[in-house]
Amino acid sequence: MTVPTHHPGDTLLIDYAGGALGEAASLIVATHLALCPCCRLNVAEMEAVGGALLESIEPEEVDPACLETVLARLDDLPPLPRVPRPKLVCQPAEVPLLPEPLRRYVGGDLSRLPWKRLMRGMDCYDIPLGSGSGYDSARRGKARLMRLASGVGPPHHTHRGIELTLVLDGGFTDDLGQFARGDLSVADDSVRHRPVADEEGCLCLAVTDAPLRFTGALGLILNPFVKF
Ligand SMILES: [Zn+2]
Repeated sequence: MTVPTHHPGDTLLIDYAGGALGEAASLIVATHLALCPCCRLNVAEMEAVGGALLESIEPEEVDPACLETVLARLDDLPPLPRVPRPKLVCQPAEVPLLPEPLRRYVGGDLSRLPWKRLMRGMDCYDIPLGSGSGYDSARRGKARLMRLASGVGPPHHTHRGIELTLVLDGGFTDDLGQFARGDLSVADDSVRHRPVADEEGCLCLAVTDAPLRFTGALGLILNPFVKF
């Protein structure tokens, strides 16, 4: 198993370890962890430090009225969907094409999924997220599998929010570099790029918290109609 060379970065890993990410971002970081021993180790260390910090805090007296108010407000909040965590230290040498926790969301057989054609050579499957109603969909984001034929990619675009892309099979190249299985690309509104699938094609998991914004003359035509 080759080791990924593109990682989520400390901020995303800390948010993941602290349970601060929405379901879609949690899913993609957890799936990267299943493929990346370096980040698994980092997250294990972050969780150990977080646990030690919590234990070192002296308990303080709290006004019972204040506690009741906080508990009442917690009752009003919809539950956060939990993304199952991969084992942090040991992983089998051979990780399946769709590792856990992604496999739990989409199953193990790609040919059974209702793929939707976005353009020639590019299909997608929107992964159903969350079960509770009233959950903030903006925070949850959108997660989809993308299947690209060799040499195919979306038009040049930038982002209204954050786009996370994890390669599951094959690879792609964009203005930021070359990405292979296990690599995670992090792009925000400062990045303008055009990912193109490598020769063997590309299967990836993509998470966005807002639709992409296409750039250039083509973008003016596409933006009102196409929501990637
Ligand atoms: Zn990593």
